[in-house]
Amino acid sequence: MVWKRTVIEEAFIQRDAEQILSIPLSATGLSDKRIWRGTTTGQFSVKSGYVIAKEMVQNRRTTCSSGQASGLEEDADMWKRIWQMRAPAKIKMFLWRCLHNIVPVNRVLTQRQLPVDPICPLCGLEEETPSHMLLSCARASKVWVLSPFRL
Ligand SMILES: [Zn+2]
Repeated sequence: MVWKRTVIEEAFIQRDAEQILSIPLSATGLSDKRIWRGTTTGQFSVKSGYVIAKEMVQNRRTTCSSGQASGLEEDADMWKRIWQMRAPAKIKMFLWRCLHNIVPVNRVLTQRQLPVDPICPLCGLEEETPSHMLLSCARASKVWVLSPFRL
C-alpha cells in the first residue's frame, strides 16, 4: 500500500503534503480504527477519561509556581466572572472565546498555518489579536469612546 502522492500534493501545501507522505502506511492493509490510549483494551471509558483529566490537572498544579493560581484555577475564575456578567449568553461566549484565543482573528489564523496576513485589516499597524480587535485598535477605541461604556 502506498500514498497517492499526486492526490496529496494537489490537496495540501507542500509542507503539509510532505508530513502526510512521511506517515508510514499499514503493511497489513487493515482499515484504520480509533483507539483510546487511556485503556489497555483501546476502548474509551468514563473512568479512564476521568483518571487522565485528573492527572492533567495535577500536572498543571505541580508545574505552577507556589503561591499563584494554576492556569485551570485562573480559567475557572475568569469563566465565573464572565458568566456572572449581565449580558446575553452569546456575548459571554464571545468573551470566553476571546480570552482563550480561539476567535478567528488574523493572528490566530496564521498560528493555524492559514495563509493570511496577521496584521489588522482596519488600522494596518499591529497584528490582529483578540485584545487588539477589542481594545487597542484605533478603530475599536473610536467605538468605545462613542459607546455608553466609556472604556
Ligand atoms: Zn487595528
